[in-house]
Amino acid sequence: MKIICIGRNYGEHAKELNNPVPKQPLIFMKPSSALLINKKPLYYPEFTKDLHHEIEVVLKVKKNGRHVQPAFASEYYEEVALGIDFTARDIQKELKAKGHPWEIAKAFDGSAALSEFVPLSAVLDKDGIEFQLKNNDEVVQHGHTKDLIFHFNYLITHVSKYFKLQMGDLIYTGTPSGVGAVKVGDTLSGDFLKNKGSEPLLYCEIR
Ligand code: MG
Repeated sequence: MKIICIGRNYGEHAKELNNPVPKQPLIFMKPSSALLINKKPLYYPEFTKDLHHEIEVVLKVKKNGRHVQPAFASEYYEEVALGIDFTARDIQKELKAKGHPWEIAKAFDGSAALSEFVPLSAVLDKDGIEFQLKNNDEVVQHGHTKDLIFHFNYLITHVSKYFKLQMGDLIYTGTPSGVGAVKVGDTLSGDFLKNKGSEPLLYCEIR
């Protein structure tokens, strides 16, 4: 299983970090050891002083495929989750400045928080999927997939040109604006706004 992540996929988020809006999806990966599931806490990594949350809609790939044509892309996913692409922003800035790979800032243990999956059809409104992240009781990120630069089907087609999609792979589809620092003691909770339950779908304490 691999975790494929898309960077800068919402224009407002690209702007808030002073990044150009990409012409093609920006792709990076995390290893399966980055997964943080079952509402487990994240222990603040000792190597960063600026750990950021990035809430993202996550697709679960449901079948194998290479060079998926656009007309068939929607057949490759039917369940979605919410995830947090935890980022050591200070380390990422240093690596970006040097033109080095991002892995130690983005792919460390626990850096891919993930909720349970729900059927896509259960969380779709007429334009897409609306979602939010709270830090403690404050909404810190709010997004809607209508604002994606590269939509789900495009991502499936594009990613599968380079990497064989395999059943169970995850695609973190990018974060909306509002990324920010977390600190020890914070409680992050994320929800789709349609069919919101009484308990948060995504839950993660920072310890
Ligand atoms: Mg991200």
